[in-house]
Amino acid sequence: MSVIVLIEHSSGNIKKKSFEAVQYASEIAQRLGTSATAVVAGSVADSEMQKLGEYGAKKVLHVPDERLNNLHTRAYCRLLITAARQENSEVIVTLHDVNGRAIAPRVAVALKAGLVSGALSYPDLDQGFMIKKSVFSGKAFAFVKVTTAIKVIMLVPNTFQLSKTTGSVIIEKLSVPFEDKDFAIKVTEVNKVTGQIPLADAELVVSGGRGLKGPENWGLIENLAKELGAATACSRPVADAHWRPHHEHVGQTGGTIRPNLYIAAGISGAIQHLAGVSGSKTIVVINKDPEAPFFKAANYGVVGDVMEVLPRLTEAVRKFKE
Ligand code: FAD
Repeated sequence: MSVIVLIEHSSGNIKKKSFEAVQYASEIAQRLGTSATAVVAGSVADSEMQKLGEYGAKKVLHVPDERLNNLHTRAYCRLLITAARQENSEVIVTLHDVNGRAIAPRVAVALKAGLVSGALSYPDLDQGFMIKKSVFSGKAFAFVKVTTAIKVIMLVPNTFQLSKTTGSVIIEKLSVPFEDKDFAIKVTEVNKVTGQIPLADAELVVSGGRGLKGPENWGLIENLAKELGAATACSRPVADAHWRPHHEHVGQTGGTIRPNLYIAAGISGAIQHLAGVSGSKTIVVINKDPEAPFFKAANYGVVGDVMEVLPRLTEAVRKFKE
């Protein structure tokens, strides 16, 4: 019996949120009296996989097939199912992100497992494997009991603080009986984001909405982000209008982030937007409409025009740093 956890990486670098998933899986494993095994797919160096030991994994099952450097949902499902069967796993952990949403439900069906999406806590074993989860796009919480023998848990990224320990892992190759149809999707182009702080890993985020009026004003967001050392984000209509790239869009249909500071400029605060940012530790809202719903979720609010407030805030940060 073991707890297994699916790892995500970008060009061979394991993502921060996957270290968090490993830490989460390891804690569950400890409570169950077993150990955590990380499942890694694609080209990742042994030295990189060793880092998983620092977050509690005891073993890595590696499938070094280059085709897995891109997300092929069927192939990823097959490898996770193969790993779960081989390890006789009782608990399977993925992230509640774009990849996890594509993979976890399919794996749960194949293994006749109960699925918890949007997990925000460790399972309470005294309460029969009860987990706190986010519902209605983060508007409320539910506590669900998973009564099936196998459980699939999708952890919301940035729920827990990372804490490193010392530890090493045993790396084993996993052989998976892939079929050609597992790789039926052809990746024709990959656009890499370079030179910016990855949004999912950022502690500080400056985000803009339609109140910015157009892409020509985005320098206001970027200048403040640069002074703070923050990543930039946006609301969905902004990405839909191609003012900003889609990977910056946060919310129900975009990324979920939980930075220490989220500054929202010219964003109304619709429930679908809040779904992706309401877990932020501190929220600052700048909006000219005092009735904007975002103010209800804000720790600090500035009623004012973003065109005036953002440059003044940027200048204040610059002066503060001097
Ligand atoms: P608006 O609603 O147009 O708000 C602009 C705000 O800027 C207003 O509050 C206005 O007072 C303020 N403003 C205007 N000018 C200024 C100024 N000069 N200075 C200061 N403030 C100013 N949205 C997301 O963001 N993420 C999602 O993932 C998402 N998923 C969705 C999924 C579904 C199924 C649906 C139906 C919708 C989804 N939406 C999502 C859209 C969401 O409902 C809102 O329409 C969207 O978040 C609004 O974006 P906005 O706040 O930038 O624009």
